[in-house]
Amino acid sequence: MRLTFLGTGGVWAAPVHGCACVACSRARADDTLRRRPASALVECDGFRLLIDGGREDLPELFPPGTLDAMLLTHFHPDHVLGLFRLRWSKAERLTVFCPPDAVGCDDLRRHCGRLEFREVEPFVAFDLGPVTVTAVPLIHSRLTFGWLVAYRGKRLAYLSDTIGLPEATVSFLAPLAVDTLVLDCAYPPNGGPGRNHNDIDEAIAIVKALGPHRCLLTHINHDLDEWLARNPVPEPRIERATDGMVVSV
Ligand SMILES: [Zn+2]
Ligand SMILES: [Zn+2]
Ligand SMILES: [Zn+2]
Repeated sequence: MRLTFLGTGGVWAAPVHGCACVACSRARADDTLRRRPASALVECDGFRLLIDGGREDLPELFPPGTLDAMLLTHFHPDHVLGLFRLRWSKAERLTVFCPPDAVGCDDLRRHCGRLEFREVEPFVAFDLGPVTVTAVPLIHSRLTFGWLVAYRGKRLAYLSDTIGLPEATVSFLAPLAVDTLVLDCAYPPNGGPGRNHNDIDEAIAIVKALGPHRCLLTHINHDLDEWLARNPVPEPRIERATDGMVVSV
């Protein structure tokens, strides 16, 4: 199973408009350091599964016939922006598995065009091409599901957006020995009150609770990028994902 990060940015991803911090200045000067909105591609046996669609250039990234299905974590704009263009495709329908959030984002669910939203129940596994997929509840400002994708005994868990994890999700995932964990981490330590995303300390606590072989941080804001430029991640299993990064699971 192959995972490609297409967008690893939080809503304050580098470069933030008008920000002169080191991370934003670097991202402005070097396009490869720029973080785009949440999106990732899972591939195995020629099957192509998109997780989230925050990038507005989804129609250019995926010409007709190059996507088999999509898993959506939730309906915040930074995860669905690309779907507003993809819905008016003239090509085949795309099934989007999603949480049961009838409101959706703006008119996306009412006028879904070629997108077919299919609501799923948490903790109920289903087969999708060569992979088995299970939704797991997360903790966020609107109904959000993480996704567990299993293929030939290997497990990938994509948990974003979240702050901490519900106990039921920890109890479900911890015994499974996840191989690769992709985890929301938007803030440096002491991220402060009123957040909907992990800071680095909360991300480390989740890694300790789930015990994955490897963890990649995503949904990264500019101030975490700046902090990581000065401080090593204090857990050897944890790395920061970057746009374009490819990982073998
Ligand atoms: Zn900045
Ligand atoms: Zn969100
Ligand atoms: Zn988000």
